[in-house]
Amino acid sequence: MSVPARSAALEPWRDPSAQPFVRIEGVTKTYGKVYACDDISLDVYRGEFFALLGGSGSGKSSLLRVLAGFETPDRGRVLIDGVDVTDLPPYQRPVNMMFQSYALFPHMSVAQNIAFGLKQSLPGEARLGAGEIRDRVQAMLELVRMPQLGNRKPDQLSGGQRQRVALARALAKQPKLLLLDEPLGALDKKLREHTQFELVSIQERVGTTFIMVTHDQEEAMTMSSRIAVMDTGRIVQVSTPAVLYEYPATRFVAEFIGGINLLDGRVLGHDDGGLLRVHCDGVGGELLARHPDPLPEGTAVGIAVRPEKIDVHETRPEGLDNAVVGKVRDIAYLGDVSIYHVQTEAGATLRVQETHVARSSEPHYDWDDSLWLSWDASSAVVLTS
Ligand code: ADP
Ligand code: MG
Repeated sequence: MSVPARSAALEPWRDPSAQPFVRIEGVTKTYGKVYACDDISLDVYRGEFFALLGGSGSGKSSLLRVLAGFETPDRGRVLIDGVDVTDLPPYQRPVNMMFQSYALFPHMSVAQNIAFGLKQSLPGEARLGAGEIRDRVQAMLELVRMPQLGNRKPDQLSGGQRQRVALARALAKQPKLLLLDEPLGALDKKLREHTQFELVSIQERVGTTFIMVTHDQEEAMTMSSRIAVMDTGRIVQVSTPAVLYEYPATRFVAEFIGGINLLDGRVLGHDDGGLLRVHCDGVGGELLARHPDPLPEGTAVGIAVRPEKIDVHETRPEGLDNAVVGKVRDIAYLGDVSIYHVQTEAGATLRVQETHVARSSEPHYDWDDSLWLSWDASSAVVLTS
């Protein structure tokens, strides 16, 4: 796999000598017969904005609760900053959690909500004085850009403001690690997009390590340094958003993240240039794909191609790696792009995306138009699992 190299300082997971900040070692958590977490191992580095991404019931919240200390794993260990916290209760961990419901106290003002955790201290921990608490609360209000709203009650705030108060409260005790369970789930779409950037900018300013749970792949892609994709209690792939998108390791990841065309095929062999030759029933012929490892003839593979990597031609293109012909069966005009579903004679339907570079009041092509589709061998991902 060839991925552009970046500096190890920005990407500590590429540095074999870097110490992880959070280390999850073989964590298993069952509820009766259900394996909510099934032998999960994962390293997260200091300062990361890390996402656990998966469908409903995949075990994201369970793993987060094990990190927070609300659940004890059946097996495995959790280390934070080098300390084994597996058997420590939540309040003895350098961790805070922000819930989707925000759980603000309705009868308290914004400032009192933020100060709440600051007024409590652990045995042996120095108590903050009233002045220090006031300063810390004001600093948190400024951090979330609500310096004037400390006296409001939660029901006098918008949804986005309540979300920011919950974040301010969670950060007030200066945890080393903040856990966020679907932090933007209660916001509507427009506000959510805005808040995504806001949350990332706050995380960058405070430098706290964030681990966020989300089922929304776009949200995970926009916000995170790295993403762990989860499926039925297991981690399927851990990588940066770009690597997950361009080099998915399995069909599950390829289909979970972004739109994709997946064609079933069998390996025929390799061509002179080392490209994999794959027969696909769905296109009634052979496709070429670049793959780092040789695969034996007859191997069942999936050929995965993203819709935006497919070019559209009205006549047969010459000299390209892959060209298939089909008829337009469906058109979605989305303003910035049009999506075409093009069906080949052999039966496969390919989803193609065309960007509207020039202004036009309607899609380029019409139902039942015959179109040629082409893509580079290196644009296809060969999936063996
Ligand atoms: P996610 O957050 O990805 O939606 P969860 O971690 O909440 O997933 O749940 C993972 C699995 O564990 C699901 O099958 C869920 O039903 C089960 N589960 C979670 N919490 C409990 C619980 N307290 N009791 C019984 N089963 C649970
Ligand atoms: Mg959950």
